[in-house]
Amino acid sequence: MYKYPNGIEHSSCPPNSYFSDDTRIAKSMGLCKCVSLIFFLHIFVPTPISSTSFLSPEVLAQIPVNFLDRANKPDLVDWMVGIRRTIHENPELGFEEFVTSKLIRTELDKMNIPYKYPVAVTGVVGFIGTGGPPFIALRADMDALAMQERVEWEHKSKVPGKMHACGHDAHVTMLLGAAKLLQENHHELQGTIVLVFQPAEEEGGGAKKMLEAGVLENVDVIFGLHVSADRPIGTVASRPGPLFAASGFFEAVISGKGGHAAIPQDTVDPVFAASNVIISLQHLVSREADPLDAQVVTVAKFQGGGAFNVIPDSVTIGGTFRAFSKESFVQLIQRIEEVITGQASVQRCNATIDFHPSGEPFVPVTINNKDLHKHFQNVAGELLGTQNIKEMQPEMGAEDFSFFAEAIPGYYFYLGMKTETQEKLESEHSPYFTVNEDVLPYGAALHASLAARYLVEYQPKSTLLKGSLHEEL
Ligand SMILES: [Zn+2]
Ligand SMILES: [Zn+2]
Repeated sequence: MYKYPNGIEHSSCPPNSYFSDDTRIAKSMGLCKCVSLIFFLHIFVPTPISSTSFLSPEVLAQIPVNFLDRANKPDLVDWMVGIRRTIHENPELGFEEFVTSKLIRTELDKMNIPYKYPVAVTGVVGFIGTGGPPFIALRADMDALAMQERVEWEHKSKVPGKMHACGHDAHVTMLLGAAKLLQENHHELQGTIVLVFQPAEEEGGGAKKMLEAGVLENVDVIFGLHVSADRPIGTVASRPGPLFAASGFFEAVISGKGGHAAIPQDTVDPVFAASNVIISLQHLVSREADPLDAQVVTVAKFQGGGAFNVIPDSVTIGGTFRAFSKESFVQLIQRIEEVITGQASVQRCNATIDFHPSGEPFVPVTINNKDLHKHFQNVAGELLGTQNIKEMQPEMGAEDFSFFAEAIPGYYFYLGMKTETQEKLESEHSPYFTVNEDVLPYGAALHASLAARYLVEYQPKSTLLKGSLHEEL
């Protein structure tokens, strides 16, 4: 369903191709290019700007600074903290984020931001700006984890066995914060910011489903972030190129013949076979992979019999594998299958393997676009100071933002939230995980700045022609 803003003045712009399936939304968003870039900058910068200086570094640098100032104002901080705590109290698992999604839509309604819903079950896609190109997407994930919160505080999870232990409650809040900052200046935006509220990042491949639903059609670039418990507040970290590994899961059932544990000769022991399989799987990385090509194979699940004196009929093992190149990833799939079936048969067992045990897709490598890395360094450097922009090593963790970054140029970064004076923050996925809410204005301002500055700096040449700008003046 589409939702339309009220009271936005329509211009005579032709419908945009992005919304061509629904010209009503094109009309409702048709603020057109009748507002010049100079005016946009005039709003953000207190002093008047001449047409020759509107792209000067000083002027551009002021945009993120002004966004952060605004994001730190008490009314915005209080609003964001309230949203974050409400979401934290009501955690929902992947594709079940109905209450979270409703909260997002309610806030977008209040801001007169049109959106599309549902996308991939619970996803919401909002639009701010002209409805025309360029289109810049900002993404937040909405899902919680199936675990019990152990932090005792006023806004503890009200749902037993579910917790926002990865900070996605903060991610949603920061994107809503950015929406507010951008919507307050929507008449000045020369293009469209696409707000992507995505379900099921932790499990289920929500990003892939959003992508298949067409959320990135005609979108030029996409940005995403994750809070980081072990990096200082006011800092960000990322890198150009590969950032997170590709990830897959596997589950194998190794079948033999059960029987009395004291009479092994009458059995075909799957526990023994599975143990050998696990040992052999360790050789894939240590003996077959290039030591300089980072890979992981971990068996994390081993379920066998239930009695001390009974050899079971079968054992189920499962785990995950990671790699940074497609070749290595495909090679691991092939070899994991060969090793499990081959080693099981050495012990007279049979094995069946499922590479999608929960029905979810393989997650590709997260690759940061190199040009966007420069853009990120510029914008975040002006917002936080260049000394607070940290370069990080790639990590073996996976992030389904990679589906987006595989489809169009994307950029993903960590946003620190640890303070010097504070006790060590527990890491993500810990039942003691907490969010330092001081991080919320930083995230909102970074999202808004990355998008707004991109619109200013990467306008199609035609809209930057001097003549057309002067006409508007
Ligand atoms: Zn997580
Ligand atoms: Zn997360």
